[in-house]
Order: sequence, then C-alpha cells, then structure tokens
Amino acid sequence: MNKELLLNTQIEYLKGVGPQRSDLLKKELNIFTFNDLLHYFPFRYVDRTKFYKINEIDHNLAFIQIKGTITSVRTLGAKRAKRLVAILQDDTGSVELVWFKGVKWIADWIKKNEQYVVFGKPTLFNRKINIAHPEIELTSEHDGGLSIALQPIYNTTEKLKKFRIESRAIAKLQKTLVARLAKEDIQENLPDNILEKYKFADRFESICNIHFPKDEKLLKNVQSRLKFEELFFIQLELLQLKADRKENYKGHVFTTLGKYFNSFYNDKLSFELTKAQKKVLKELRSDVLSGKQMNRLLQGDVGSGKTVVALMAMLMALDNNFQACMMAPTEILANQHYNTLSPVIMGLGINIELLTGSIKGTRRKEIFEKLVNGDIQILIGTHAVIEDDVKFKDLGIVIIDEQHRFGVEQRGKLWTKSTSPPHVLIMTATPIPRTLALTLYGDLDTSVIDEMPPGRKPVTTVHRTDAGRLRVFGFMKEQIKLGRQIYVVYPLIEESEKMDYKDLMDGYESIVREFSPPEYQVSIVHGRMKSRDKEYEMQRFQKGETQIMVATTVIEVGIDIPNASVMIIESAQRFGLSQLHQLRGRVGRGADQSYCILMTDYKQSNEARTRIKTMTETNDGFRIAEVDLKLRGPGDIQGTQQSGLVPLRIANLAVDGIILKEARVSAMEILDEDPHLENSQNIQMKKYIKTLRGIRPNWSKIS
Ligand code: ADP
Ligand code: MG
Repeated sequence: MNKELLLNTQIEYLKGVGPQRSDLLKKELNIFTFNDLLHYFPFRYVDRTKFYKINEIDHNLAFIQIKGTITSVRTLGAKRAKRLVAILQDDTGSVELVWFKGVKWIADWIKKNEQYVVFGKPTLFNRKINIAHPEIELTSEHDGGLSIALQPIYNTTEKLKKFRIESRAIAKLQKTLVARLAKEDIQENLPDNILEKYKFADRFESICNIHFPKDEKLLKNVQSRLKFEELFFIQLELLQLKADRKENYKGHVFTTLGKYFNSFYNDKLSFELTKAQKKVLKELRSDVLSGKQMNRLLQGDVGSGKTVVALMAMLMALDNNFQACMMAPTEILANQHYNTLSPVIMGLGINIELLTGSIKGTRRKEIFEKLVNGDIQILIGTHAVIEDDVKFKDLGIVIIDEQHRFGVEQRGKLWTKSTSPPHVLIMTATPIPRTLALTLYGDLDTSVIDEMPPGRKPVTTVHRTDAGRLRVFGFMKEQIKLGRQIYVVYPLIEESEKMDYKDLMDGYESIVREFSPPEYQVSIVHGRMKSRDKEYEMQRFQKGETQIMVATTVIEVGIDIPNASVMIIESAQRFGLSQLHQLRGRVGRGADQSYCILMTDYKQSNEARTRIKTMTETNDGFRIAEVDLKLRGPGDIQGTQQSGLVPLRIANLAVDGIILKEARVSAMEILDEDPHLENSQNIQMKKYIKTLRGIRPNWSKIS
C-alpha cells in the first residue's frame, strides 16, 4: 500500500474497530483516521505487571490492578440514585465495585462466579473502600500483550465507557496500529540540528514509544520531543502569521496628534496617567506611526485603567480622519462602555454610536448608513459589529475588550472590514500566564500595564461559610449605612442552569426578606431577563437608587461602579480563579476600603480550598493567573484535556514553560534565516505544516 495512504485510512478499517465503534470514536474523540488515533496520546502510564491483593488496597493508592471472582451483583436504588454494586473476592478479602452509569449494560454483561481482572482507583466512601467505574475484563480475555510495566492510559468519555471502549480498548487499537507502522509512515518533521541539539529521538520512534515505551528513559525523551514538536509548530505558525502581516499589511499612519487627542488630554482627562499607562501609549503611538498594521495585546490587571488607554488610541485615529470601533463581549459591557465614554468625550464634537443585537429596524439601518458615509466616528458594540453587513468608510483601529470571550477566528474577521486592515488592539480582562499568552497570542506584540492607579486600597478578601450568613447580613447593613453598595453574585453554569436559577431566586428572596423596602432597595439582573429590563436595573444600581445588586455572572466583566465596595460571591467554590479575581475587580474602584466575601459550604474539595486560599492571600492578578493555570493543567483528571483552555495534545502550559521558550526561540531562529521555509533543510517542516490543519483541534473553540 502507498505509505502516505496508510495514515489517512479511515478508522473503521482498523482491525477491531468496525462501524459502531468508528462512529463512537469519531463523535467522542474526533478520531477519524489512523493518523488521528496515533495522535491520541496517553495521559499517563501504569504498571500492569503488578497485581495487588485485596487486603493491600488502601484508598491513598492511585490506580491499582486486582484479580478475583465476582460473588454477587446487585442493582440498588432507583432513578438517579440507581447503581450497580458487584463484590469481587480473592483469597485475602473482598471489595465493592460500583457503577452509576451504564448500569443496565454492565448488569447484562457481568457474570457471577467468573474470574475477572479489575483496574481502577480505590476510594473511601462511608468508611468502606470501593472502586467506582473500574475497567473490568474476564481473566480469560485479559492480556493481549498489554500486561506491561508502562501501560498507556488514555482518556475516554462516559459514552465510550458505556460501550466498553475504555482506556484498555484504545490501547489495544493502538497496539494493532503501531504494529503496522513502518518508518516511512512517520516522516520526520523537525530539522536535524534541532534533533541533534536536544538529542531527541526521531519521530517514528517517538510515536511508537509514546504509546508503548520501551523504558522510562526513552519515554522521557519522546515526551519532551513530542511536546517540543507540538509547541514548536504552533510558534512557527504564529510567528509566520506575524511576519506575513508585517510584510503584507500596510498600516494606516496616524501622523497627527490633533484636536481630539489634545483637547481630551488637556481638558477632559481628570487624573494623571500612571507611568505604565504612559509607557503603553508610547508603544501604541510608535505602532501607528510605523506604517505597519498594529496587532497588539494589552494586558493589565482588573482596574489598572486599560479603557482610557484604548480611548486615547481611538482618538489618534479620529485625528487622522479614521473611524474607530470597540468591541465588547456582552451587551451590558458594550452599553457601559458607551455610557461611560460618551460623557468623557462630550463637547469634543465626536459622533459616537452603539450597535448591539437589540438595536434593530430603521435605527440599525441608519447606523449602517452613517458608518459607510463616515458620520459615525466611534462605534461601540458587541459581536454585532463584525457581522457581514456592517461596513465602515475608513476604519482605522479596532479595540477588542476582554478578548478571552472571543475566538481566534473572530479576531481574524475584523481585518476584512476594510481594504487595508485597521490596527488591532486586544485587551484581556485579567492577566494570563506568559505561557498561555505566547500560545494564544504569540502572533501579537504585547504591552503590559503593571501598575494600579494611585490611591487604590487593596480589597480585603475573607472566606465565610453558611454558618456565618447572619453576620454577613449584619456587615452588609453596616456598609449600606456608610452609603456603600453591594453586589451579591450567584454562579450560573449552563449544565445546571435550572438549579442555578432556582438558587439565584431563592437567594434573592432571602435578601429581600432581610433587606426590605422602603429602607432598602434590591436590584436583580440575570441572563433570562430582557436586555431592556437588565439595562433598567443596572441603571438603578448605577444611580444609587438600589443598594444591593443580586446577579449572575453577567456582571463579571468590566462593570465599573466606584461606589460599590462589597462583593459577595455565593457558592464561591464553583467559580474558577480568574473568574473570582475578575468579580472581585468590580469593587475597590473608589477611594473606600472594599471587601470581597467568598461564601461556601462547610466542606470543600482540595482544589476549591486552594482557590479560596489564593484569593484571600493575594490581589495580584498575575500571580493568580499562574496558580489558576497550575490548578487547571491537564493532570490526571479525565476529560480536562478535551475541554481545556488550549488545544494541546501533550504539552502542558502549566509545567512546560521551558520547552515552550526553547521552541519559540528555535522557531524564531529558523524564520529569521528562512522566512518562507524554502531552504532544503526546512522543506519537510513546510510540508508538515500543511498536514497539521487536519489534525490540530479546532482553534475557534477557544474561549
Ligand atoms: P480595566 O483595566 O479593568 O479596564 P478601567 O479602565 O475600567 O480598568 O479603569 C478602572 C477605573 O480607574 C476607572 O474608573 C478609570 O476611570 C480609573 N482610572 C484609570 N486610570 C486612572 C489613573 N491613571 N488615575 C486614576 N484613575 C484612573
Ligand atoms: Mg475594562
């Protein structure tokens, strides 16, 4: 068979797959071809030559393997509590095996008085050890060459497990496939000098050994190699994109600092810019004078004052007869930007307009017309501004606020808005770790605001449980007496939306009971409200007509109400670290001492405890971002890799910072010498990049 073709073979043609399994592999793991399967790497290895005796089992052990006879199988509970419990016994004792999902299926399949090999993680439940959702095989069917010291463990999904495509089944498929591979099937894609420099194994050896390592030493080598390779090609692509843009896209030149910029700076700006803000403005200024298109990432902690910098960049465009556009991730935020920027530039004779999904009909048409004929100078909006029918006369600069909500593809779309692309400034909501920034935004230049406006008092953060709720109410009343306003935020997770809304409404009612009119007024804002009603409630709070704002995370990003000085986060254990930090950033904007109260149940998972502890210990967004990445790094948790932040198969941005740095430097060196990868030693890389588009997960899913 043509060697090129082997890897492109559809997965159903692999021995042991067939139509049903191939459907599942495609749907659940995006494995369509032999090549996809080969690039589905194990996330850990276990010693499958070792068997434990049941009396040796301890819940502190990681994954273990035992052998025994099933002595009883029972289905217990009903509906959601339904579970299957089987007892496995050997000559030293017995242990419970439990299934909560696929109960019927397992019950049909598992047989009493048969010998099984069982593999899983022991846990302690009600002081008894059990193994939930173990892999289980008839001893007679066990082995198949997989009882090895370094057996690969692959992530699977609930659905796959239900059809008994567990890690072991995937390992068997890999075994079959790897046995068919010849060296020519896996072409080298890194240049010789890199292989030599790092003493990396070649690609064929690496792919074979990542699945079935010969020994620990070789495993370490091929892991590093494949991580390097993965990060290297991402960097190569990003750096090429960057170089291509610099080469091909002329940037509008904003020569003049004219009346808009100057009169804003002299008459409207009510505070001194921080050193960091000035430094960033200089960087922006030199970009827009360079004759090249600007593509810059602006990082700064919550409240560091990114918006005013963005505004001044927009004024530079206006002074040179260009339009400017600012895109925010939610309608509330777009409204707020519009509402805060409009008065700030009032009297400067600037036409500023708002465009969101809820602006419809003739009003919308009118805006479209005014954009095309250049009457509108600044457009603020949501995704609505990148829709195809929105056309500008001369768009000079685009500001994307809180970029983490936008996909990479949407970022690209803005360039098609005018024949010569606008300058692009992307602002993140909270700092992101360096490794992540380089991977997501490695094609951009970066600026950092690493200083807070003067006079800010750090927010005092405390942790309280339900037992302390009455005292929290008391504290809220004290603060309201002092004239302050309070946010109370509830989680809203899509999967448990119904329950979350119930919690929110229950919480709202208990607050209204405690804080009743006429003494107190309480607002509520959540995603199921009409945007007109949301807007109305936001405004009542903003004007100080209500003292408490009960909300879901719709207020997470960007809202700026300096008089609000207390942030209470309910079920804080359910929020991620960067979200908690972002929420806390809603307070501490005025001169008053501000507080953030993290409410949780009494019991916590270890990870939640670390998050809460980090929040109470530091206000530094850059530090929080690092901890966040470490906590969320792939690790052993099944499924995180798929749902993860960045589409990586093997590299881990939480721990592979050094490899990333090496990979980026190597990519830079190569492109410096050979920007279009035309030299003979680089041809194989170029060829490989073309095939990458097929195997790399979808970048547009990043959010
Ligand atoms: P973020 O970086 O989170 O977007 P904002 O731009 O919303 O922060 O700024 C937060 C608040 O700080 C705003 O009320 C803004 O007017 C104010 N601010 C910005 N820069 C300064 C400064 N140099 N001195 C004083 N206040 C400032
Ligand atoms: Mg902001």
